[in-house]
Order: sequence, then C-alpha cells, then structure tokens
Amino acid sequence: MISEFSLIDRFFKRHCINKGITRLGIGDDCALLSIPVGYELAITIDTMVENVHFFAGCDPFDLGYKLLAVNLSDLASMGAKPLAATLALTLPEVDEHWLTQFAAGFFSLAEKHHVDLIGGDTTSGSLTLTVQALGLVPSGQALRRSSAKAGDIVCVTGFLGDAGLGLKIKQGYHCEQPDAALKRFNRPDPQIEFGQALVGIANACIDISDGLAGDLGHILQQSQVGACIDWEVLPLSPEVLSFIEYTGDWAMPLAAGDDYELCFTVSPDKVQNLTIPHTKIGVIEALPGLRINKSGNIQPLEVKSFEHFS
Ligand code: ADP
Ligand code: MG
Repeated sequence: MISEFSLIDRFFKRHCINKGITRLGIGDDCALLSIPVGYELAITIDTMVENVHFFAGCDPFDLGYKLLAVNLSDLASMGAKPLAATLALTLPEVDEHWLTQFAAGFFSLAEKHHVDLIGGDTTSGSLTLTVQALGLVPSGQALRRSSAKAGDIVCVTGFLGDAGLGLKIKQGYHCEQPDAALKRFNRPDPQIEFGQALVGIANACIDISDGLAGDLGHILQQSQVGACIDWEVLPLSPEVLSFIEYTGDWAMPLAAGDDYELCFTVSPDKVQNLTIPHTKIGVIEALPGLRINKSGNIQPLEVKSFEHFS
C-alpha cells in the first residue's frame, strides 16, 4: 500500500514554473509566494463532492481538469492572471489508475495556464475534491460584481447553455450531435485571457457557473441596479436551439450552470475598446430586477439556478 507521502511525491509534486514568485512549493508546512509590487493576490476555492457535483464513476481526467477549470474561471472573472493552486483530496481508497488520470487532467490545464501546484492536503473519506487557486491582479483593478452602472451594455463571451445541454444528454436527452455539448460540460474552458483583457474596460464581471439569470442577478443585486436582456440576440448553438424547439424549455440556457463563460457590463463609451469576441445581450437599468424582452414583450425573468441547502 502506497503511503500518503509517496502518493504526493508520485502524483502531485512537479517543478514550479513561476520563477521569482513561487519561492517554495510542495514539501514544507507552508508554500511561500513572493507577490510582485503593484499586484494584489486574488484567492478562490471550490469543492466538488461525488454525487453532488459529479456522477460516481466519472472520468478522473475530466474531474482533475474541471476541478481546476472552475477555480481558474473565478480568477478570470476578476481579471486575475493565474499563478498557483493548492489541492485538498479526500479519497475513499488509493486507486493508482484513478490518481494517474486525475493528475493528468489537472496538470494538462495547470501547464496551459502556468499554474504551480504548491501544496495541499490528503485525507481518507468519501470522495471530495477541493482546489484553491491564487492569481495576480494589478492593484485596485480587479473586476468586481458591485460596479455595474445604469446604461452599461451587458455582454457575454461564447455561447450559453451548451454545458446545460451536456448535462441533459447525460440524463438521457437524445441529441444528434452530442460531442460539443458533452465537451463543454466535462472540460469547460476558463476564459483567462478574456478576463485579463477586460481589466480597465469592464465595469463589472462574473463567470457563469450557475446560469446567466442567477449570475447576472448577483451583479444586479450587488450593484443595486436592474437589467433587461434581449431573447433574440442570445448566443445559442444549433444544438441548444433544437433542444428548445423540441422541449419548449426556452429558459434552459439562462438557468443551466457550468458554462464558465464571462458575463460583464461596459459603459457605452468604452464598448469600442473591447478586444475580445463577445455578444451584447442587454442593458443595465436603474429599475431593480432582471427582465427579458421576448418578441417585444418585456417580462420578469425568474428562473431558478442551482443552490445548495435549498
Ligand atoms: P502538514 O501535516 O504539515 O499539513 P502534510 O503532511 O499534510 O503537511 O503535507 C506534506 C506536504 O505535501 C505539504 O507541503 C502539503 O502542502 C503537500 N500536500 C499534501 N497533500 C497534497 C496534495 N493532495 N496535493 C498537493 N500537495 C499536497
Ligand atoms: Mg505541518
């Protein structure tokens, strides 16, 4: 039976690449980071629990990838550049094949975004996976949820609802072309470069983890404003459109989570400074609440997004 320490050495200890910043990685009681002058440390943490966030028997490569991706997406939404991560693993058993695949998924994304794994914790118990990610953002410039202004344009990156469709497919919905939706669900792409490109341009930003309606709702609440979005212009893939046609569930792409695209607001005089691909989906208004314009008929948008303990 492999010991806790040889498990860490074998599967998780790698050379750190952020020279000058990561002073000490895995192996001591703490890791040490030297924060460059002019930057703030952005810190986020997310846990994935078996049978809550992922199905039992889920592909370990996908799990390692997605666990880091959801954390990097939080860094992206603040405009931070990823730097390092810590990893807390609670495992029911030591399964070497599972660990090899999990680590391969984790490091495939870590290497792409130059993230050093600098520490963690390993315990036994029901399968529970936690990553804490750390990033750097120019001091005072992080993109917050609380600074949207009436008159701002509401924008999103990418498409909405593809990950939600991936989940529906896993639950039995038949889709002619399931691959793209399943990939979006299993291996979401954190919009790291886009987040950094929005620093100094966007007023407010959030990543869409729990569905556009809920996540834009957080911006509205914290900024004490409202918004009206336009159904006709929402970026929807052909697969999501045919899902809506078949089921009549037009709110799915607004309610479903796991897209990990960015939703941000920009004042009209800065829209021409946007350098990233985006879709303008609505406007921020002084009147609180979220509304949707469906063929000229403006109605309150009340869709449930995922919440624990409810
Ligand atoms: P301590 O008992 O001081 O908390 P541990 O024995 O738990 O230290 O961990 C030894 C070293 O291995 C520490 O540097 C810790 O950060 C690292 N570590 C433990 N588990 C993991 C893991 N799952 N992934 C990465 N690093 C880990
Ligand atoms: Mg210690």
